[in-house]
Amino acid sequence: MQPADMLILAVVALVLSVIYNVSQAMRLRRIRSEQPAAADLAAEIEDAQRELRELRADLAAERQRSDTLAKQLSEAGRTRSTFLDNMGYYVRTPLNHIIGYSELLMNGIYGEVSEQQRERLATIHRSGSELLSYITDMLELHRLISGGVELKLKPVPVAPLIEKVAEDTRSQLRDTSLALRTDVAPDAGALFGDAQRIEQVLSQLLLNALRFTKQGGVTISARAVQVRNGVSAALELPAIGWLSDGDWVVITVSDTGIGIPSEDQASIFDTFYRVQRDQTSDERGLGLGLAIVKRIVDLHRGTIWVKSAENQGSTFYVALHAPRDGRAGDTQERLSAANSRALQSGQRPV
Ligand code: ADP
Repeated sequence: MQPADMLILAVVALVLSVIYNVSQAMRLRRIRSEQPAAADLAAEIEDAQRELRELRADLAAERQRSDTLAKQLSEAGRTRSTFLDNMGYYVRTPLNHIIGYSELLMNGIYGEVSEQQRERLATIHRSGSELLSYITDMLELHRLISGGVELKLKPVPVAPLIEKVAEDTRSQLRDTSLALRTDVAPDAGALFGDAQRIEQVLSQLLLNALRFTKQGGVTISARAVQVRNGVSAALELPAIGWLSDGDWVVITVSDTGIGIPSEDQASIFDTFYRVQRDQTSDERGLGLGLAIVKRIVDLHRGTIWVKSAENQGSTFYVALHAPRDGRAGDTQERLSAANSRALQSGQRPV
């Protein structure tokens, strides 16, 4: 090898070693500059882990608190049920004695009574009966709300049902000149429901209608209503889609009484709601009658609504599924499934 070649080789080696050293130095610098970012990342991960731990601890504490609350709630529910059951027995029994004996005394069974004594006994009898009906209503609503009522659903022919309710109500109408009419359309057919509960709904509506009507009369009618695309040819619904598409039976109770002010109409089905009127109107009651009625209709997956004008009268509409309605058949199934789900999760049944 010539000395010149050797020189070239030495220069090349020198250049290569310089390039190598420079690249090493640059790599080192890059690693050093990345190190703080990695350290930051590690710190962030640690922070996130700590927050997660704190969150988990909060969640566990929250779960414990809600478990305790659920226990307290179910304890309170049990206490309320026991209280109401006791009230049913320990209050109703003596009240029945008061009502029964005051009636016997009033009728002279235990000897002559003066006119004044008869009047006082009549007051005791009336007050006892009112108190009993308040307690009965409260217990009834409690049973309906807490899922203690099981419906016996089956097809119920409408015409005999309406006639029976009207007849039972007429027997309580001795002292009045009011007419109670029935008007059942030939196509009314049958509804799908618990006959006894529907009777309860209709008698309450009839008694209310008679209570708030001084002149004219009360009519209970029924007809079949088909709803297609949210509307019905047989009945003007308050809004499109008010009733779901299908076959319904709609029963109406109309009166020519004092009517319900428009501002009260949305609330009359609420628990303990009473229309505030002047002293002359018959406003006894706790405001539970219509709340019970609504609850029973809801349990049937039906709908109730009212149209009324002051001093012209009121019409209450009760819409219930017809047995031929596809959805009526599974009402029972859906109801019991929904109720057992609600009861299991400690909620109010539907
Ligand atoms: P309560 O149980 O006290 O009798 P309801 O729940 O049956 O009460 O009724 C609530 C309110 O609705 C009553 O205060 C009454 O004023 C009004 N109401 C109910 N039905 C009629 C009706 N047919 N005509 C006029 N007002 C009515």
